[in-house]
Amino acid sequence: MARRRAGPHGGVDLGGTKIQTVVVDSRHAVLGEARRATPTTGGPADVAVAIAGALREAAAAAGLRPSDLTHVGVGSPGAINAEAGTVTSASNLPGWTGAYPLAAVLADDLGTPIALGNDVQVATDAEARLGAAREYSSLLGVFWGTGVGGGILLDGKPWTGLGAGGEIGHVCIQMHGGLRCPCGRHGCMEAYAGRGAMERRARELHDKGRPTELFKIARKRGRERLTSGIWARALEQKDPLATKLMADAVEALGAGVASVVNVLDVEVVILGGGLGVRLGKPYAEKIAAAMLPHLFNDHRPPPVLVAELGDLGGALGASLLTPVAAAAS
Ligand SMILES: [Zn+2]
Repeated sequence: MARRRAGPHGGVDLGGTKIQTVVVDSRHAVLGEARRATPTTGGPADVAVAIAGALREAAAAAGLRPSDLTHVGVGSPGAINAEAGTVTSASNLPGWTGAYPLAAVLADDLGTPIALGNDVQVATDAEARLGAAREYSSLLGVFWGTGVGGGILLDGKPWTGLGAGGEIGHVCIQMHGGLRCPCGRHGCMEAYAGRGAMERRARELHDKGRPTELFKIARKRGRERLTSGIWARALEQKDPLATKLMADAVEALGAGVASVVNVLDVEVVILGGGLGVRLGKPYAEKIAAAMLPHLFNDHRPPPVLVAELGDLGGALGASLLTPVAAAAS
């Protein structure tokens, strides 16, 4: 692994719900951080403005300006072209259909070089280098949030296939009559376990008369969407609809993750993402139990560990990225 250049640098985790930024020193210690909601309307330019604002805030918390940073890494959903600095078809972000030159726009705004990477892959790398998977050389990262992302590390190296590897959310777990996934297909794991899909389902069932506190809790907290914290609260209150949808999600994760483990036979499964981190160890254990009936090698199931870097994992992983131009210089 190449040595990082000395000096403070930044990391951005661009998620469907929130933008988390960090400023770190050369030993990965967090000097400042900031978070804001991802815009739900507009387009890529509005998202770029929000990213720059959150990064400025993290830099200010560290007593720095963005231009003091050697570089900033951005972990983004969608198809990433690191060389071209573009992000294409980020379906969980507003109006993001074509290719958008995110690196150039941010470099211009912040006055520092920008590196782009896949959000899930950088979070996986962060857990492998700095977090729960430090001791392992092969792992499957399952990032359970708005969607369900997957990151793969084999023999110490990230595996991204032709560029879209690790899309564990779209493993098929229901062949016939499966729920519609945000990707448009039917029966994907994400259609049952993604927080976005779970919210749509909760709304439909609530509109049909199923009682739930989910939307009341959201209103009380002034939230438009059902965040991980809202799900956690509803589960604590034993809300029947939240409990049912979460049981379906765990069952779906069990089948989907076990199917991928059957193929890759990795040493460990790391559970991250907004829901994974918020629900933590008790749910890692529930998922491990739900995997068992589907595991071919059920005599040695891999441990399912909660991501150690928590909410900051994606941003810390992004800060490990090196800009293409800076790497060459
Ligand atoms: Zn899908």
